[in-house]
Amino acid sequence: MGFLQEGPQLAHPWHSDRWLHALLDRVLPTERRAALDADLAALGDYAQMAWQRASESTRRKPVLTQWDAWGRRVDRIELTTAWLEGPQLTTRHAVLAAGHAPGEYARLEEFARVYLYHVASEFYTCPLAMTDGAATAIKASGNAALIERALPHFLSRDPARFWLSGQWMTENIGGSDVSHSETVARRDGDGPWRLHGRKWFSSAVVGEAALALARPEGAGEGNAALALFYVETMDGQRRKPELIIDRLKDKLGTQELPTAEIHLDGLPAWPVGELAHGVRQVAPMLNVTRTWNAVCAVASMARAISLARDYATRRQAFGRPLIEQPLHAQTLADMQAEFEGAFALAFEVAQLLGRVENGAAAAHEATLLRLLTPLAKLWTGKLAVKLCSEALESFGGAGYIEDTGLPQLLRDAQVYPIWEGITNVLSLDSLRALAGEGLPALRVAVDGWLSSNDDAAAAAAIAATLDAAAAHLDRSGADRASLEAGARGLAFTLARCAAAALLARQAAWSARSGERRPGAALRRFVSHGLNRLMVSDAGDTGLLLG
Ligand SMILES: Cc1cc2nc3c(=O)[nH]c(=O)nc-3n(C[C@H](O)[C@H](O)[C@H](O)COP(=O)(O)OP(=O)(O)OC[C@H]3O[C@@H](n4cnc5c(N)ncnc54)[C@H](O)[C@@H]3O)c2cc1C
Repeated sequence: MGFLQEGPQLAHPWHSDRWLHALLDRVLPTERRAALDADLAALGDYAQMAWQRASESTRRKPVLTQWDAWGRRVDRIELTTAWLEGPQLTTRHAVLAAGHAPGEYARLEEFARVYLYHVASEFYTCPLAMTDGAATAIKASGNAALIERALPHFLSRDPARFWLSGQWMTENIGGSDVSHSETVARRDGDGPWRLHGRKWFSSAVVGEAALALARPEGAGEGNAALALFYVETMDGQRRKPELIIDRLKDKLGTQELPTAEIHLDGLPAWPVGELAHGVRQVAPMLNVTRTWNAVCAVASMARAISLARDYATRRQAFGRPLIEQPLHAQTLADMQAEFEGAFALAFEVAQLLGRVENGAAAAHEATLLRLLTPLAKLWTGKLAVKLCSEALESFGGAGYIEDTGLPQLLRDAQVYPIWEGITNVLSLDSLRALAGEGLPALRVAVDGWLSSNDDAAAAAAIAATLDAAAAHLDRSGADRASLEAGARGLAFTLARCAAAALLARQAAWSARSGERRPGAALRRFVSHGLNRLMVSDAGDTGLLLG
């Protein structure tokens, strides 16, 4: 037998994760930190088992059967093993319930679980995120009847009671722009509201509930006339006949996640709040799902880097292991530094969310959360694609071969920039956050994060870049077109400044116990540059597209 290459081994996602350990050690009170250990270890065990299982089995996709042998419409979906394990596993380890427990650390403790579980879950985390978002939006609505009806299911720790919720917003005519949505809500006298229309992307079609945007019959045009409705999809064990699954989408990635095109043919529905301003009512849900997106993007980066690093110790080229080739080592270290910045920002948003929801936030922190949520989502989404692509390359040809399990990382990552607010749309959203007190709030936060920093060069780079961002905003302030054209560059710049300052805080904390790695991550991250401002030139743009 000739040479056989050893494949990469997955280190235990919890026991080997220095960043999550350091974060939780720094932030959590000792007794809460200790209480978390068993759940995190169990989710890490599951992730390692799932990686092993996937490498030994043929990948499956969900299958939709629309009709039974006797011509009855059944719309039955067979799920993958990880999906069948989802309810049991997530309720046992309180993945959702943890985030709604009292106390400012609740969200951090939730997202630590999400981070460890996500890749193994095969995007079962997608409907979990929407369920979390639905619970948050329903709480924010103050609708006591719905709170009493839905939340005990959404936040249950009992798999038999647990319900998933979807979010039915996107239609053929628009996902980012829902103002022309065609789904109509009708009511016969005092009877229930009923929804009629077509939803183009429904990722939790196997769920028991959903929040849906619809236009009450007779209401006007546009966004403001849309209302938010709560629906239930099941009648006992059977799906309600007014919910018709037209087909499952054939997707680039997230293939285990059954994303469906559906028809609503009079599905009963309850208004969540007033019969208008549904987009405003759904905003708390989107803030939560965007945080999930950022944490899941970071989890994919962690997985890709962990495998790439391990492989570099096993693969030889030109007489030595790849990890000893200076350029390969440099490439992996560059990826590591970017990942650590993304990790720091995503988890800062998670913590802020917990502080704001639990009344523990400082004066500037609600504004900061409003700004950092879209920034974290859009930046980590793009970075996940880039790092997963680089990770595949670091395996050479093997990275391109399906049954290594590696290409799936890249295909799955491509969804992070698209759903839950696409990059450009979120860049524009961050402009709205900046129009208020967003930038001053970020400066206050950055000053705080840098208060014990001893890397003067990093602090100077952050300060200079924030000044450049402020000058850019001042320059383009009056010119809406150039402000919009530069929004993506501005968003990346601010995200990188925030990430660098957060890395500096972690580096200063770690240095106290002699740990020098985080300082190296900070230096490397800053050396990649913080400023991504784009000088918009409408004339050249016109020429290039003409
Ligand atoms: C796997 C998957 C699952 C999904 N699941 C769900 C689900 O469960 N529920 C749900 O409701 N939706 C779901 N979606 C839909 C998703 O949220 C939308 O596709 C997304 O919001 C983008 O909307 P769109 O498709 O209409 O794209 P468009 O908005 O048409 O975007 C096209 C391009 O135009 C750009 N663009 C749009 N507006 C602007 C602007 N003002 N300025 C500059 N650029 C702009 C965008 O950046 C993008 O590059 C899912 C999508 C995927 C891929």
